[in-house]
Amino acid sequence: MDKWRTPEAAEYRKLYQTKQWRILREQALLRDLFMCQHKGCKAQLKRGRSGPRSAVVHHLKPHKGDLELFFDLSNLASVCWACHSGDIQSIESRGFDVTIGEDGWPIDPNHTGNL
Ligand SMILES: [Zn+2]
Repeated sequence: MDKWRTPEAAEYRKLYQTKQWRILREQALLRDLFMCQHKGCKAQLKRGRSGPRSAVVHHLKPHKGDLELFFDLSNLASVCWACHSGDIQSIESRGFDVTIGEDGWPIDPNHTGNL
């Protein structure tokens, strides 16, 4: 996917590879009790990257590379992969040029660097 080769995408990917993010992500999942926070979904989230119920930690306010928004626990919500790749991305892409998922999350769940 060419849109993931933009400089912005590379920057975002780096953020997702930081130790700080991994810790914060874990905190968000624990806070949300591994439950999908999207509307009425409430799916039990799974660790790992495969399957529609794998956990995605989503930025409520698109960070667009803003470190404060990126590393803000209150700006995070745990959702399942199905909700994120379906509902959330389609909602967000409506207002934006579809260059990138607004939270920097690749559309391909097997993409590296997105634990
Ligand atoms: Zn869900």
